[in-house]
Amino acid sequence: MKRTDNPELKNKILDHLADLYKIKEVRESNHLSSYISCRTKSFLDHKQTTEPTEQEVMLFALGYGLQDVLTPKEASAPVINKDGIIYSPDMILSNRLNEIKTTRKSAKYHFMDDSLPVTWVDYMMGGCYMMEKTEYDLIILYMMGNYSPPFPQVYAETVQFDNAELEENWQKILKQKAVLDDALITGNPPESYKNCYDWECKYCRYSLVCDAIARASGATMTEEQKEEDEELWS
Ligand code: SF4
Repeated sequence: MKRTDNPELKNKILDHLADLYKIKEVRESNHLSSYISCRTKSFLDHKQTTEPTEQEVMLFALGYGLQDVLTPKEASAPVINKDGIIYSPDMILSNRLNEIKTTRKSAKYHFMDDSLPVTWVDYMMGGCYMMEKTEYDLIILYMMGNYSPPFPQVYAETVQFDNAELEENWQKILKQKAVLDDALITGNPPESYKNCYDWECKYCRYSLVCDAIARASGATMTEEQKEEDEELWS
């Protein structure tokens, strides 16, 4: 037997996945998610400064592929445009908003409130606000279960919000929108490391670009961002 590496075939599969899930296409800069995740990244994505990495293609493709498999036939996935903001729930099923998430995190923390990434919560709250709802159904596929043994597990729950937290979250989103809108008008990216959550920088494809922008503008990383950066490059 002789085994030979076949990078051409690998690239063909990666291109196929990127095409299938439109991973290289630039998403509208006014999508709700652009205002929730790093605004600097949203700006750079919009300017298409860097192609998605192989890792990102695989992560997105796996997420979208599993989402397809988990979506019942009767579900719909409308695109809503309200006040110039585009929002698309993963699915509407039985007239209810649903998100489908996949993660390699352990399921053992599932029932802790802060086990839900803040970006998921902000997005669900933003969707609720736009759709005048106070409940969101959430399906999480833990790809490795609780790692003992590492078998997949699905959890489903309903998350309820009150009107005050929805309003507060919406005001935060509008402020973050203003930062990105302004950057797109002026052509200057939002300040590096100041418009994101610390953990977003860890595997970001723009870390070198951001570093250069930050040096030029005198911006600095937070201590947590520095630690994650050092860990990444050590
Ligand atoms: S490195 Fe951090 S600040 Fe820069 S684009 Fe990525 S997530 Fe945003």
